[in-house]
Amino acid sequence: MSSNPCLASVVAEIADEVGRMTERGDVARYIPELAHVDPRQFGMVVVDADGRVFAAGDSDTPFSIQSISKVFTLTMALGMIGDRLWQRVGREPSGNPFNSIVQLELERGVPRNPFINAGAIAVTDVIVASHQPREAIGEILRFLQSLAADRRIVIDKTVADSEKRTGFRNTALANYMKSFGVIERPVEFTLGVYFHQCAIAMSCRQLATAARYLAFGGADPATGRAVVTSERARRINALMLTCGHYDGSGDFAYKVGLPGKSGVGGGIIAVAPNTASIAVWSPGLDRAGNSLLGQFALERLVKRTGWSIFGP
Ligand code: GLN
Repeated sequence: MSSNPCLASVVAEIADEVGRMTERGDVARYIPELAHVDPRQFGMVVVDADGRVFAAGDSDTPFSIQSISKVFTLTMALGMIGDRLWQRVGREPSGNPFNSIVQLELERGVPRNPFINAGAIAVTDVIVASHQPREAIGEILRFLQSLAADRRIVIDKTVADSEKRTGFRNTALANYMKSFGVIERPVEFTLGVYFHQCAIAMSCRQLATAARYLAFGGADPATGRAVVTSERARRINALMLTCGHYDGSGDFAYKVGLPGKSGVGGGIIAVAPNTASIAVWSPGLDRAGNSLLGQFALERLVKRTGWSIFGP
């Protein structure tokens, strides 16, 4: 893979190109607080193997990370119970929207993968385990602060409350899984933690920094500090590639060709293995709930750098 020496200009040019786009998608309205976000914002950050940071646009503006949090809770849950996690959640793409309930009945309450809402709620239930919800929320937040090397990361309580008030679908998913014994803790505990992890606010700079362990074999290349084994990083990347964009995962692999994870706040993290970790943000979404311009920016980046895992 080429490590492009002109990354600074590539990133700046992509931000310019995005700025000229008129089609921006629509912000997530089903979480009332996210409906107020200005859709004209765009940020992009690439961190390379030497720790150099290439940033453009609103790269330091915090936004709601939403489902991007699912990558980090998956990492934590695997650290806690290892492969036993796979008794409670599958590893197959769902081909259905992120908040779908249909497959749960066919598969005895076991969600298809850890990135659809049902799967992520089951993963969060593992983290809640013996903790009080408040402690579990604190652990997730501290994990992200340490990965991003930034203690300023906080949870946006207004977003968490907004989601709790309107989270009827997630409540249904949790109760349905509970009826099969897939959720072990009280559903209100697990959902409370889930809503708070989704409401963590981070910037592209913080997210691209936090995702370095996935791009560089499980360790932060700057310090050599291992977060997970290289095998685990590789497997999390495989799940991001196949399931990270819900029923848009095939299209994302086709157009971008990098493991990536989106959130309905409009953020996407992506990793070019051994080369770079990337975060983009633009609040307007496509029909699958993935950032329209975020995906466009990544498609342009891969075209310019040849970073697709499927070849230049
Ligand atoms: N918090 C959101 C939800 O549960 C996360 C969905 C997403 O980002 N795709 O609906």
